[in-house]
Amino acid sequence: LYPDDGSSADTLLKNASTALYHSKLQNHSHYQFYHDDLNHDSLESLKLENDLRHAIERNELDLYYQPKIDLESGMVNSVEALLRWRHPAIGMIPPDEFIPLAEKTGLITKLGYWVLETACRQIRKWQDVGHEHLSVAVNLSALQFRQTDLLERIHKTLECTSICANQLELEITESTIMDDIDTASSTMRALHCSGVRISIDDFGTGYSSLSHLKRFPINTINIDRSFIRDITIDSDDAAIVSAIIAMAHNMGLRVIAEGVETREQLDYLKTLDCDEVQGFLFSPPIPHEDAAEFVGKTVDALLPAANTEMSAS
Ligand code: C2E
Ligand code: MG
Ligand code: MG
Repeated sequence: LYPDDGSSADTLLKNASTALYHSKLQNHSHYQFYHDDLNHDSLESLKLENDLRHAIERNELDLYYQPKIDLESGMVNSVEALLRWRHPAIGMIPPDEFIPLAEKTGLITKLGYWVLETACRQIRKWQDVGHEHLSVAVNLSALQFRQTDLLERIHKTLECTSICANQLELEITESTIMDDIDTASSTMRALHCSGVRISIDDFGTGYSSLSHLKRFPINTINIDRSFIRDITIDSDDAAIVSAIIAMAHNMGLRVIAEGVETREQLDYLKTLDCDEVQGFLFSPPIPHEDAAEFVGKTVDALLPAANTEMSAS
């Protein structure tokens, strides 16, 4: 706006284009007036984007692993691979901060394949030392899910690492499916036919319902941790979780409760017949070299250690 944002046409256009750039960084339709901080913010995010571009070659990325425990057998049957970025100047940047940037810039595709390959190589190593039944869950972003070479890359990775397709689980969110139902549905069918398992991550936070999802070949529902947090004190949350589990079971789906932090939550989830649990009660995500703490362990072996750690923190 003249004259607040510039007194010449050049400055006005430059600032308008900065505002446009910021508006495009937001998801969905958006408008944006210019203000001085935008220049600073865009320089920061441009720098971070540039650093992220080199993060793989510079060996700054790492995968942490968090166990999922099967409540019927009491065993850790699967681990979720979670991406970490150790920025040389800023330190550890949480995925919630850099994954949206990677999605906006398209870098997520390259990062995502790095995650898939690294996770499958790691699971091979664990299988080689006797944990034959361990499977791995990898998070896929919506953009990655739409890549035309996704299936080919997955098959190649499984082949190179000699992992059975049913030992790979892909976690996608409801919005990934709902954004482009036709493409998502054909990709999911192809993955399902090849034996790869699909789970819906953070279930309950999107707009879809289980009845929507019944049209897709899904194996598992991961109930978002926001419903688990107050499950023992909030009767609404308890009712929602109970209904999700009952409906999912009727549809032949398994259910994982995310973010289990207390013994009370675990005991309550057992009464609801929940299939699997994941959360800080058992272990936070940790580097692969420390994962002997939980790989091949039972729920009972994990509980005392987790309780000590939690009461110490
Ligand atoms: P997510 O896939 O739902 O992963 C679970 C997140 O919840 C992890 O956060 C984990 O540390 C956290 N969590 C697990 N148990 C508990 C608990 O008991 N309490 C609490 N408060 N938190 C718990 P993290 O590692 O920071 O990852 C955040 C999100 O970033 C992930 O959510 C996932 O959506 C995304 N992400 C992580 N790695 C990747 C990746 O390789 N690719 C893609 N596309 N997304 C990823
Ligand atoms: Mg996940
Ligand atoms: Mg989740």
